[in-house]
Amino acid sequence: MFYLTFKKNIEKMKSKYSLNLGKPFGIKVSIHWTFLLLIAWIVFITMRQGLETAQILMHVLFVLALFVCVLLHEFGHSLVAIKFGGEVHSIILLPIGGMANITKMPEKPKEEFLVSLAGPLVNIVIAAILGLYLYYIHPVSFGDMDFSYITRDNFLPMLLAANIFIVVFNLIPAFPMDGGRLFRSALSVWMSRMEATRIAKNIGQIFAVLFIIAGLYINPFLVIIGFFILLGAKGEYEIMKYQNILEDHKVQDIIITDYDELEPEDTLGEAAKRLQHISNRGFVIKSGGEYKGLLTQKDLITGLETYGKEGKIEDSMNKKIESVTPDMDIFEAFKHMRKNKYDIAPVLKDDAFKGILDIDNINEFFMIRKALQ
Ligand SMILES: [Zn+2]
Repeated sequence: MFYLTFKKNIEKMKSKYSLNLGKPFGIKVSIHWTFLLLIAWIVFITMRQGLETAQILMHVLFVLALFVCVLLHEFGHSLVAIKFGGEVHSIILLPIGGMANITKMPEKPKEEFLVSLAGPLVNIVIAAILGLYLYYIHPVSFGDMDFSYITRDNFLPMLLAANIFIVVFNLIPAFPMDGGRLFRSALSVWMSRMEATRIAKNIGQIFAVLFIIAGLYINPFLVIIGFFILLGAKGEYEIMKYQNILEDHKVQDIIITDYDELEPEDTLGEAAKRLQHISNRGFVIKSGGEYKGLLTQKDLITGLETYGKEGKIEDSMNKKIESVTPDMDIFEAFKHMRKNKYDIAPVLKDDAFKGILDIDNINEFFMIRKALQ
């Protein structure tokens, strides 16, 4: 249904309160705990209608089948994104639909168009397969079928209808829903991506408000979807502005060369004492002039808790933080750091240490550029 190209909060939410389902094609698939609320809601509604246990189970089964279709929809987006050189971190299933976390999105309008189209296309294929099955192999007569609740007989016709609904709903041009993305990539042919995003965002927000108002009368899920669109549109536009302003600037423009150094043999107590008199996020650890790793604030705190003040830095320093290079675009480095959840990164060129990059410095640089515009 949705896919977000860069969303920190979703990332956080996902890791904590969801159940892992596996990692097909290298994409982590999980299901959010609120999904249980959806099942509970279905059970509640059907019980209130006075249905029997077997009928209630049929409804739950239907929701599960529907979400398999939603998952396949997200795989449609994800696999096409990967085909065009994009990167997909994970797919999460929420009660309001699926969400693919595409960490690197192909940005050419044509490629984005195809990535956006791939999701709904999957549901069209599912609907077509169900249609052919119901027409040729297992013909049903719709005339005397009761559609007021789900039964063994109308299960597949209802699933077919639901897939068509997913296609139609997703094609509404409410950015960042699929239709909105298709709309933006089409606009990008005539104008800058930034301008196209601005227009798509505004239209998306109008739809979001309509969804929220309509949802109050029709269905609470529509209200939630409306809020998601509202926040999603704003969030993506902000990121886009960020990217636009940082564009064409390299890591070497904001590299920090005035850093604090410690040696692996130094104690954590020494680092703690020094940290109180300087303002930085960590230390550069060098031995004989050679870079060994970083000791972030977090590493220091964890180290102090584990080894105490006399603990050696070499046991607590962070050798895992991935480095960036001086000629990398700042925005790329920024995304890289956010993805790895680090606030600082070493800058290395051909294994030679050049300095550090700090997320605060990127923010400062952004604000200065924005003020100058
Ligand atoms: Zn979609």
